[in-house]
Amino acid sequence: MLREAGGLAGAFAVGLPLVGDVSGQGRAGAHRLKVVVAGAHPDDPETGCGGTIARYADLEHEVVVIYLTRGEAGIEGKSHEEAARIRTQEAQRACEILKARPVFAGQIDGATEINAARYEDFRKILEAERPDLVFTHWPLDSHRDHRVISLLVYDAWLHGGREFPLFYFEVDAGAQTSQFHPTHYVDITSIEPQKRAACYAHASQNPDGFYKDYHDPMNRFRGLECGCKFAEAFVRHVQSPPQAPPMLS
Ligand SMILES: [Zn+2]
Repeated sequence: MLREAGGLAGAFAVGLPLVGDVSGQGRAGAHRLKVVVAGAHPDDPETGCGGTIARYADLEHEVVVIYLTRGEAGIEGKSHEEAARIRTQEAQRACEILKARPVFAGQIDGATEINAARYEDFRKILEAERPDLVFTHWPLDSHRDHRVISLLVYDAWLHGGREFPLFYFEVDAGAQTSQFHPTHYVDITSIEPQKRAACYAHASQNPDGFYKDYHDPMNRFRGLECGCKFAEAFVRHVQSPPQAPPMLS
């Protein structure tokens, strides 16, 4: 389902094996992957990667969404504590819709830190998940917290010896993420309503504003680029291991 951008015409990589499994291991069979999607705030993994999360989950791969913060600074007029409570519930609901498991990494929205101790803390959280594949924010982004999670993931990846493929996603393309030139696309047309519902679970964030005005056009544009109605786009880190999971061949 991840397709390589550019390259030879017709040379798009084939997706995950869709064949039913008679052993009872589910559609992903023996190749059940642990997929981790790391975002800065509740709604980032959903907007950048929600369709891809849903597709992996539908194929019975395990998907974990790590939220660096609980969106503490994200509701005007609410205390950090109250906003965190509301946005944690919204993130949990979004993950239910996408069939993913949420993990909260304990930093504070708008005040995320990057230093030796934070690198270490985050590395432990990521390593505990033993991921086969990781997605995170593209580092060139106007939001500080987005840049922080991107670098925390990158540092953990380097520390662990680049053992899993690392892919970057975009959010609010053109407004927040910049200079993003995809290497891979995922066709999310079939599950776009699911992605939309997960994004709209973030009712406190004015989903009409962030989805209709930014992410719906982004999904359509990426769809135009790769020949489908809706798509999500990714940049694969070139130093990702060659022994890629089945869908990333
Ligand atoms: Zn964000």
